Parts: sequence; C-alpha cells; structure tokens
Amino acid sequence: MTMRVLIDPGHAPGNANRGPTGYFEYRGMWTLSNYLKEALAASGVFVQLTRSENENPALTARGGMARGFDLFISQHSNGFDGTVRGSECFYSVRHPENRAIAARFSAETAWLMNHRDRGAKTKAGNGGLDFFGVIRSAVAAGCPRVFLMESGFHDNPVDEAFLLQDENLQRLAVLQAGIILDVLGAGQASNNVPGINVSPPMTTPPPTSAPQPSVPMPPTTPPPVVQPPLSPSAWATEAWEWAVANGLTDGTNPQNPVTREQMVTILHRYHSLQK
Ligand SMILES: [Zn+2]
Repeated sequence: MTMRVLIDPGHAPGNANRGPTGYFEYRGMWTLSNYLKEALAASGVFVQLTRSENENPALTARGGMARGFDLFISQHSNGFDGTVRGSECFYSVRHPENRAIAARFSAETAWLMNHRDRGAKTKAGNGGLDFFGVIRSAVAAGCPRVFLMESGFHDNPVDEAFLLQDENLQRLAVLQAGIILDVLGAGQASNNVPGINVSPPMTTPPPTSAPQPSVPMPPTTPPPVVQPPLSPSAWATEAWEWAVANGLTDGTNPQNPVTREQMVTILHRYHSLQK
C-alpha cells in the first residue's frame, strides 16, 4: 500500500521570520520541504506540499489538507533572542503515542545540527486541544501522525549558518525521510535521489548512552561521610528563604541531595502557587 505524506513548508514569502545574515524561515523551509518530498518520492511514497512557492494558505487550511494522509509534518525553524540553539518537535496532545517519533525527529536533528536536543513536546490550548492551529486542524482531519518540527533557531548565528547551507538542508531532508520511512514501514531510503547530492549521511546517529566498560572496575573506596551544613550557602539564601516562605520546602536539609519524588513535589507545589 502506498504511504501518503503531507509536508507543510512553514509560512510564506512576506513573512518576517529571519536570521541576522540573510536566512528567511519561509524560504529555508520551502527548500527543505522540497528536498524531503524528493527523498520520500524516490522511495515510493506519495507526497504533497500544503502550498506552492508563493501561496500562503491559512493554518487551518494547511492542516485540513491532511485528510487521508498517513503523516503530516510542518517545517519550521525557531526564533527567540539569538542566544538559544537547539531543535524540538511538537506532536498532538490527542496522539500521545506519537511522542517517541517526535523525540526521534528532535534528537536526530539536534545530532546533525550539533546542538541541544530540546525534545518531544506538546502544547495544549483552549479546551484541551492543541495550541498550534496547524496541528489541531491536521488532527481534526483524521491524520494519525502530526508533527511540527523546529529545526534550529534561525536568529542564532551558528544555527543560521547551518540553515543557510543548501547541503545541510539536503542532509536534514535525508534524515527526516529516513525516520518517516521507518515509522511508516515504507521501505528503505533511496540512495539515489534526484536533486540531492549529499551522500546519505547518517542512517544511525551514534548511541546517546555512554559505552559500558568491558572489564570490571576495581573497587573504589567510598568517600568519607560528611554531614551537610544545616544552613544554605550565601549565594542560595535569598532563593531558599523565598522557597520556604512560599511553602515549596519545609526549610530542612538545605544542602542535601533531592530525590525525584521530592523534586516533583516541589514542582507540584510551585504549580499550585500559580493558580
Ligand atoms: Zn515558523
């Protein structure tokens, strides 16, 4: 059965999202989307884009086109204040089973762009629906796998320099195609894609976990037990007193390690403060 993928090149000409030295998000994502289309089509996937080069359909229209498609990906690069680098991938609050796929898009992109993996994310809006209109409408159209990819921060000079290189957009497309073909069980990525000149780079990123030592480690002497001080360090005093005053902690053991259950309890208390 032929798999169907709908690619949404984010934004359109006239959109102001840009980097400091000439990158425009709408243009970079148009190029990336077309490379991805070529890579998937070469492997037998039916692919459409949500817009032609100069069209600018509404977000709901873009998502609405996803009816009958097996996977939808909206292509973006991020912006903040110029200091942040990293990639992240949003998936739908209605499809929690897609979290692992989004995590893969994010992790492999971050690996290729050599920056921080900001991970798989959801963002809920009104009524527990997805915040992003393009995700919301693609899910409403019945598409079972909906993603919004943020490949790097275009207002960061290092990420922008990567995104300005056509070959790097080809590498991103080959990487995304590999994930999509894997997810859809649609066969192997083609090594011969018209218009894509980079050698297939990275079928598998290096493992993220540290290699295990192959020989047993010699026994180490446990460190001497030192009782932590009973008052916070000078640099932490203000924050510590704030946390105690707001009931986030009871004020004991300021310099002891925190367990996961203690950490989520503090987070939960902080969350309750905001209401
Ligand atoms: Zn965008």
